[in-house]
Amino acid sequence: MKRYSAFAIAREAFRHHTGWERAWASPEPKKEYDVIIVGAGGHGLATAFYLGKNFGITNVAVIEKGWLGGGNTGRNTTIIRSNYLQDPSAAIYEKARSLYETMSQDLNYNVMFSPRGVMMLAQTQAEIRGYQRTAHANNLQGVTTEFITPQRVKELCPIIELSGPRYPVLGALWQPRGGTARHDAVAWGYARACSDMGMDIIQQCEVTGIKQSRGKVTGVETTKGAIKTKKLAIIVAGNSGDLAQMGGFRLPVESISLQALVSEPIKPCMDVVIMANTVHGYMSQSDKGEMVIGGGTDGYNNFTQRGSFHHLEETVRALIETFPMVSRLKMLRHWGGIIDITGDRSPILSKTPLGNCFINCGWGTGGFKAIPGSGWAMAELVADGEPRELASAFGLDRFQEGRFIDESVAAGVAH
Ligand SMILES: Cc1cc2nc3c(=O)[nH]c(=O)nc-3n(C[C@H](O)[C@H](O)[C@H](O)COP(=O)(O)OP(=O)(O)OC[C@H]3O[C@@H](n4cnc5c(N)ncnc54)[C@H](O)[C@@H]3O)c2cc1C
Repeated sequence: MKRYSAFAIAREAFRHHTGWERAWASPEPKKEYDVIIVGAGGHGLATAFYLGKNFGITNVAVIEKGWLGGGNTGRNTTIIRSNYLQDPSAAIYEKARSLYETMSQDLNYNVMFSPRGVMMLAQTQAEIRGYQRTAHANNLQGVTTEFITPQRVKELCPIIELSGPRYPVLGALWQPRGGTARHDAVAWGYARACSDMGMDIIQQCEVTGIKQSRGKVTGVETTKGAIKTKKLAIIVAGNSGDLAQMGGFRLPVESISLQALVSEPIKPCMDVVIMANTVHGYMSQSDKGEMVIGGGTDGYNNFTQRGSFHHLEETVRALIETFPMVSRLKMLRHWGGIIDITGDRSPILSKTPLGNCFINCGWGTGGFKAIPGSGWAMAELVADGEPRELASAFGLDRFQEGRFIDESVAAGVAH
């Protein structure tokens, strides 16, 4: 595949963009693969990429029931940070954040990583204590964060209202190298690199059954026929429960819709990402000028991918306390994605009761930021059959052993 470069852009400009190649192939499935990955979201594609790059395993199919990146990967609010409290979480999220720094070069695809800084506002005394504790923990973990004063918050974000009617801003947890990236570009960049390595990305193909013999996976049933495989990786976010059911085991995961919205585009007015967890709202400005606003999860389990007016009202009402300018914006669109939430709000990267079958799920409201680190760790698990250091704490066995990785504060509202 030809590399993208400034020279290529200039060349194509002269010939009316007629010379670009297709970014990835759309093949029919082969009869058999070494590895089948179900789900062409960011995590599935990143797993495929690192299987090829780090282990030389390229006889891989990524099977997607819709279009690649069309699940939560293309529906999230793109926040990237690694300021988690527990050591295993900080390790995997920081690995991911550091891979985002060079992702555009590594994939030869501009994913628009923008380390503009992320702050989580402290608006109660409890939040001050919590975020100061996280800042201390992060410094021990090698994650650069600091607790900043309200004055510094105002310097970094002049449009904020510090003395909100219910909850004044009392400080913030600030991660200067957190930020955003263009979500679908992340999926497209990985897809292009995987296709270039000879892997098959098979879209519009739903996995409908898992074939097994003597407790081991032998293949999958799909809407394009049966396909054999030596190993299976299930990476389907909100649909994880369905796939586990096909495999004959259960997961401690709930599927819920999480909603977001964007405003009409306006001139640049905010160059940081801000989360207000007490009032429950967060916001950043996209490169197009839209204010990207995140809401909460629905109050009941469901599989819808739509926004609802009830949520819009709650989210915007909360955000107006800290950002009064939001009241004068028009909404452009709103949507939802089916997220997969575990009891301790930490992900699952694990072997399963089924031999040669691995699962990666439970990223809940915050898995976009983890995509490269998760793909790296999952590739290790699939290639070796056992987790290495990054994934070792995130096994399914922790729910039997009561060894929870409690990230309910870091992941409760903030994404
Ligand atoms: C509104 C919203 C805002 C969010 N904001 C953030 C944020 O700011 N920062 C952050 O870090 N995270 C955020 N997240 C979470 C993040 O988007 C997810 O954790 C992450 O995208 C999960 O990626 P994935 O690859 O695991 O899943 P997905 O991208 O959902 O991919 C799974 C794929 O599996 C496919 N699939 C399912 N069943 C089958 C089947 N039977 N056969 C074949 N294919 C199948 C689906 O079609 C889908 O494409 C947000 C999520 C939402 C919904």
